[in-house]
Amino acid sequence: MAAQEDKLKDIIGHAKEYGFVFPSSEIYDGLSATYDYGQLGAELKNNIKNYWWKSMVQMNENIVGLDAAIFMAPDTWKASGHVDAFNDPLIDNKDSKKRYRADVLIEEHIEKIRAKIDKDVTKGKKKFGDDFNESEFRATNPNVLRREGEIKGIEDRMRNALNNEDLADLKSLIEDLGIACPLSGSKNWTDVKQFNLMFSTELGSVSGESAKIYLRPETAQGIFVNFLNVQKSGRMKIPFGIAQIGKAFRNEIVARQFIFRMREFEQMEMQFFVRPGEEMKWYEYWKEYRIKWHKALGFDDTAYRFHDHIKLAHYANAAADIEFNFPMGFKELEGIHSRTDFDLKQHEEHSGKKLRYFDPEINDSYIPYVVETSIGLDRMFLAVLSQSYKEETLDDGSTRKVMSIPPALAPYKVAVLPLMKKEGMPELAREIIDGLKIDFNCQYDEKDNIGKRYRRQDAIGTPFAVTVDHESLTDRTVTIRDRDTMKQERVSIADLHAIIEKKVSLRNLLS
Ligand code: ATP
Repeated sequence: MAAQEDKLKDIIGHAKEYGFVFPSSEIYDGLSATYDYGQLGAELKNNIKNYWWKSMVQMNENIVGLDAAIFMAPDTWKASGHVDAFNDPLIDNKDSKKRYRADVLIEEHIEKIRAKIDKDVTKGKKKFGDDFNESEFRATNPNVLRREGEIKGIEDRMRNALNNEDLADLKSLIEDLGIACPLSGSKNWTDVKQFNLMFSTELGSVSGESAKIYLRPETAQGIFVNFLNVQKSGRMKIPFGIAQIGKAFRNEIVARQFIFRMREFEQMEMQFFVRPGEEMKWYEYWKEYRIKWHKALGFDDTAYRFHDHIKLAHYANAAADIEFNFPMGFKELEGIHSRTDFDLKQHEEHSGKKLRYFDPEINDSYIPYVVETSIGLDRMFLAVLSQSYKEETLDDGSTRKVMSIPPALAPYKVAVLPLMKKEGMPELAREIIDGLKIDFNCQYDEKDNIGKRYRRQDAIGTPFAVTVDHESLTDRTVTIRDRDTMKQERVSIADLHAIIEKKVSLRNLLS
C-alpha cells in the first residue's frame, strides 16, 4: 500500500511540475478538492473527450449529442429524487473529528478481507508450484471459504441497512466489525447521519426558498428533460441515445485522492432509450462496448474489473461499475446503469407534460426505458496518468521518467528540435512545424542539449521527437525518435506526416 501511495504522490508531483494539473487558486493556498488543468492537462482532457465523443456519438448513427445548461428548473431535482434522496450516510470519528462515508468504511474493511484471501492464494501457489489450480483452491480451501462467507455476511447486512435506511444498524455494523478511524485509530464514532450532496445558490437578487436553484449533480437530467425535443427535432427512432459532456457538482464530504473525487468535476454520459423489456439486452451491450473502449487504449488488461452494485440506486434495476486499478487500488471509473423508466416517468408526473414515444413498429406509445453509461472525465484522466507514468532504468544505468500516454491521447504528437541554434536549423525546424501543425499539435524546443530535450518530451508523453541536424540542411532528411523504444531513424521530411499520422491517429483506437 505504501508503495502505491508513493506512486500517487509521484504522479501528483509530476502532473504539477509539467503543467498537467495544478491545485486550484494555489497562491491563496488552494481550495480543497478543486484542481485546475494546466497547458498539457487541457490538451489531454480534450483528447480524451474527443475519443469518447467519436466513439459514442459520431460512430453511432443512432446517438446524438447535447450541451444542456448547468442550471435547471428546481423541480427537475425534486422529480429526479435528488432533493430528497441524494444523500450520503456519514459518520464522524469523535477523536480525529474526521468525517467518513459509512458505506466506504465498510467497503474498505471488505477489501482488507479480500487482500487476505489473495495472500492465502499466493501462499497456495508457492506451496503447490506448477500443480496449483487457483480456481479449485478458491472453491475448496477452508480459510478462503470462511473469509468469503464473512464478506457475504457483511455485504448482506450493509445492503439491508442501506435499503431500509437503517442508519442505526449501519453504525452497529461498523462497531461490530471493529472498524477504527484510519487517522486516530479510535473506535469512538458518532451516529450515522444523512447529508445532501447538492450545492445550491440563489437566482438573481431575490433570496428565499422560491429562488433557490442547484448546481447539477449529474448531467443526465439535462438529457431526460430534452428527450422529446431531441427525438422530435432529430426524427430519432428507438433505440437511440443522447450523449453529453459537462460539469457536475457534488458537495462531497470525503473529497480526497487528487482528482479522483472532487466537488466540481466533469462527466461524459450517454442515455440510451429503448423499448421496455429490451433494457437487459442493451445493458449487456453497453457494458461490452464500454469495456472495449477502455481496453483499446492498450493498458494492462488486469487493470479493469466489473463490480456489480450491492445497493441499487432508487432508479435502477441493474447496475455495474467498471473499476480501475488506480494507485489507491480498484475504484469506480465508470457506471453502467439500467435506469428503467424512472426518470422520464418522474418528469411526466412533476411537469404534467407527456414524455412518450410512439413506436410505429408496434403501433403503441410508451415511456422508454433507459440504459446509461456514465464516466468521470477526471477519473479517466487519472487512469491515463497512472498507467502511463513510469520511471525506467536504462541499459547504461541512467533513469528516465516517461509518460507512455496512448499516442492518440498525447498532448503533443511531435516535438521538432534543431540540433543547434544556427546555420538555418531553427528555420528548417519551424518550416517542418508549419507543415504539420494543422493536423498535429507540435512543440518547438531549442534549449539545452539534445539529450535533455528528449527527456523533457519523454516526461510529457510526446510520441515523436524530430531532430534537424547538419545533414537535414543538404538532403532534407531528419531523425525521428520513438518515445517508447527510444530508437531513431533517418527519414525524409516529406514522409514525416504519414509516419506520425499512422501512430497517433484515433483510428488505432476506434477501428
Ligand atoms: P462514487 O461511488 O465514487 O461516489 P458514484 O457512484 O456516486 O461514485 P455516479 O453517480 O455513478 O458516481 O457518477 C458517474 C461517474 O461520475 C462516476 O463513475 C465517476 O467516474 C464520476 N464521479 C462521480 N463523482 C465524482 C467526483 N466527486 N469527482 C470526480 N468524478 C466523479
